[in-house]
Order: sequence, then C-alpha cells, then structure tokens
Amino acid sequence: MSDDYVLAADMGGTNLRTSAVSRDGSVVHQRQVPTPRGAEASAVVTAIVDEAELCISELGRRPIAFGLAAAALVDSAGTRVLSSPNLPQLNGLSLADKISDRLGIAVTLENDATAASIGEHWLGASRDVDISICVTLGTGVGGGLIVGGRPFRGASGTAGEVGHICVEPDGVACGCGSHGCLEQYASATAMVRIAREIGVGRPGSKLTTLADFAAVDVYDAGLGGDRVALETFERVGRYLGIAFAGLVNVLNPHMIVIGGGGAGAWNLFIDHVREEMSGRAFEHPAKAAALARSELGNRAGFLGAAKVAFDLADSARETDQSLS
Ligand SMILES: [Zn+2]
Repeated sequence: MSDDYVLAADMGGTNLRTSAVSRDGSVVHQRQVPTPRGAEASAVVTAIVDEAELCISELGRRPIAFGLAAAALVDSAGTRVLSSPNLPQLNGLSLADKISDRLGIAVTLENDATAASIGEHWLGASRDVDISICVTLGTGVGGGLIVGGRPFRGASGTAGEVGHICVEPDGVACGCGSHGCLEQYASATAMVRIAREIGVGRPGSKLTTLADFAAVDVYDAGLGGDRVALETFERVGRYLGIAFAGLVNVLNPHMIVIGGGGAGAWNLFIDHVREEMSGRAFEHPAKAAALARSELGNRAGFLGAAKVAFDLADSARETDQSLS
C-alpha cells in the first residue's frame, strides 16, 4: 500500500495536466498537453485516456484510481458533467465512466474549485480547520466548500458556486444567465475590464498607454503605485468583501482561502476585502473567518482530485474486505 499511487488530472480551459501522486501528496510524475477545446467529446475523452496511459507506461506500474478535476458542474456521484462552459460538448456526458471503461481503473470526476478546496484542506492553507471556503480567481471565479472536514457538494453536486453570488443587481451580464455575478467583478478577466473603465480619461496612468493588457499588467502597474491599478484592486476587493460577508454570515467558516492566478495580487486587494467584509457581516463570524492565501497555488486542483481518488480506492477496498 505504501507505494500506491493515483493519477490526478486537472483539465482547465488551456491545459490538461496529468500527474501521478503518492499517498503523501508528492508528485512522482507529470505530463501536460493543451486542452483539446474545439474537439468532439470523444476526442476529449481520448486525449485524457492517452495522457493517462502515457503516464502509466512511463512510470511502469498501475495506479489504484484516477481523479479528474474539470471546470464544470459535476453530479454528486462524481461521474457526469452537468454543464461545462469551456467544453460544452461534454454536457450530459458520463465522463468518468467513459474514461474508466477505456483504462480499466476506477475514475472520479470533481469540479475544479471543489478539488482545490479539498487539496488545500488536505495539504494546504486550510489543513487545520474543519469549515473552509476556497475561492479561485482565474478566468472565472470558482468556489468549493469544506464542511465538517469533508467536501460539501449539496443536493445535486453543484454547491459552492461562489462566483455566481450577485454583487450588483443590474450589473454586467454573466455566462450563467444572470447579471452582476461576483465572477464579473473579481476574475482576472474582470480586473482588466474594470481597469479599462476606471482608466477612461486618465492619461497619467501607465495602463491607459497600453493598447492591450492583462491582469498581470494591472498588478505590475499597481506595484508601481499607478492610481488606476490601485483603484481597480480596491473595487475588486470590495466586491469580494460583499460576497464574503454573505458567506461568513451563512456558513460561519474558520477560513476563506483565496487561490487562482488573481490571488497573486493579494497584497493589493486583501485589506479592502477585509474592510468590506467586516463592515457588512456580523462581528462574530467576520472575526472567526481568517482570510488566507492558497498554499498550493496551481497544484491545489490536481492534489484535491488525487485525494478524492485515494478515498474512492480506499472505500472500494473496505467494501471488498467486508464482503470477503
Ligand atoms: Zn453568473
């Protein structure tokens, strides 16, 4: 059992990264290819299976299970894609079963932000607490909940969509069909849009001299004291604080972990998050909720998927033992 390993893959909008992970969370092998975005569902399944088989043959031994984290709403059984904005061809597909049939090993599917929350609780920032929320700031805003030390998936598997809490009732249209979702005000994509809005008529800002820029440029400008960039992160921080105030009032968590690429700007927005959250939430849950930066960074998703895969293999083993 000590040399057991699982495969864990993280399929984002850009890359499909497949890792072999041992019981202590160390990564013993890793591969990465671009996510096959425009391809048919069967080609996506084949890409995942091919990468897994290459990982297995390069290591020379078989994993005990496979955990896949994807940017999608996933059913509570960890089998079927309910909805995937990045890969809509997977909607309704029993993705875990398709992969399992081809590889001959148990496969479980997890929402990527829920996987990140599991990863942080296993080996990262929230490892010592029972109730935590993980919020990932990337192309979108993802969320995952840990309640009583276990992932909380809700009635049908979709719990934790922090990015679709409304923070502006008449705000920017969101891909989910609503308006004014947190995702439209705190994702890396939103940071760029907000910086553009604030920069109108502000020729003194470095950002307004750039034809095109990304969230990292807003961050760099902020570090240099650029007012447009600093006001952008103040606004982003306040919107996060509005959503977090609701979350701490409802869930009274020990900790909110912030991860994803946008967490890189932590020092430019976190004071505004804290101030807005404290100003709106009840005093006791606001004080109880530590704000922490992700410790696992972009490893949180696949490490969480690895933990779910170990749990799946262990529960199957226990069932076998109780039957024999
Ligand atoms: Zn939304």
